[in-house]
Amino acid sequence: IALRHLTHRHMRGPDGSVLLQWFPFNLCSGNPLFLEPYWRRHAAASAVVFSGWHRLSYITTDGAFHSVELVRHIRRLHTAVGNAVVDDKHVVFGVGSTQLINALVYALSPEGNAASPPASVVATVPYYPAYKSQTDMFDGREYRWDGTTAAWAKNGSRNSTRDFIEFVTSPNNPDTTLREPVLAGSSAIVDHAYYWPHLTHIPAPADEDVMLFTASKLSGHAGSRFGHAASNKACHCKWALVRDENVAKRAISYSRQSTYGVSRDTQLRMLKILKVIMANLQGKDDIFAFGYDVMVSRWRTLNAVVSRSTRITLQKIRPQYCPYFKKTKEPSPAYAWVKCEWEQDVDCYQTLLGAGIISRSGISNDAGSRYTRVSLLKTQDETSTCSWRGSPNSSTPRSTA
Ligand code: PMP
Repeated sequence: IALRHLTHRHMRGPDGSVLLQWFPFNLCSGNPLFLEPYWRRHAAASAVVFSGWHRLSYITTDGAFHSVELVRHIRRLHTAVGNAVVDDKHVVFGVGSTQLINALVYALSPEGNAASPPASVVATVPYYPAYKSQTDMFDGREYRWDGTTAAWAKNGSRNSTRDFIEFVTSPNNPDTTLREPVLAGSSAIVDHAYYWPHLTHIPAPADEDVMLFTASKLSGHAGSRFGHAASNKACHCKWALVRDENVAKRAISYSRQSTYGVSRDTQLRMLKILKVIMANLQGKDDIFAFGYDVMVSRWRTLNAVVSRSTRITLQKIRPQYCPYFKKTKEPSPAYAWVKCEWEQDVDCYQTLLGAGIISRSGISNDAGSRYTRVSLLKTQDETSTCSWRGSPNSSTPRSTA
């Protein structure tokens, strides 16, 4: 992809000679702009207009701060796509799924019991860094970040007096593998941000006790900041007796106390977006078919380039049957998980930067500097949105998306 961009950067000098401009391509963040062309095509149908008097109130018509209609559409979409069983679950909204990360940790932690030790929040390497940074930030008496699962799996989590809250990301960010909990007896928060048919095959509808989703990777509306969690009414987690519906209640209470719910304007926009998605599902302009075509062609191009090199390798993904498309699909992952194979390339991030690509170092996932993540989710031509230009030695902006 970057090689193709580089050819776009041939410019004519004043004497007509060809100049090669050297700008690094910012493929660091997971900004999902690959879906922008889809929404440009559906510009009128997806537009939302509301008057100045509308939705002034803190509460919606049913006395809550979430739209019942939006919950209904979320359930319908999951059922139609076949990626999650949510009909029997509580649905909780968040300001992006980012807000729900800590809301769910809080909801699953031992409730105000001074006698019990704090819950241990863990994840398996390589993991999405926000689980650690958020847990560290809100570190309290009830929970704390306790590292990666490997050590606990070895020593036997069952024998520990601790309660484990395990983040499981499936497909995983950054390496895109489908994952399951590792620690026996942990309460798992299964983050399904990428469990949609444009980014993975869907082997079966997900049905875990606590699941996390985000509009950012479903429809591309990262700027609207909307995520949702689905939690089981009778949660089979360690504190089931106390908890039952408490997981949802505590997550809602977190949302009430931190933001008083998700922006009502955002909820209206998301309702419209879901209606457009539903109206086109399995039709001639299905968003997942569109997104899949874009992503599969990026993955193919990248593999064709990388297969000629011994210096870097990518994660291996096999074609898989996807019930949504009713066919075997080539891979269409959100990220390339790059490994630098040559001995001297100890810092793979720097190696790629030297080739003009800004990536996200595997250091942030506890995977080490031999690895780095390249986002495939951005625009076709990143030139226009590349926010940082400079020599490979300049400092780079970092975000967690
Ligand atoms: N979970 C995962 C695995 C992610 O990759 C991201 C964003 N990159 C998020 C959660 C947060 O997404 P958002 O806050 O935009 O919903």
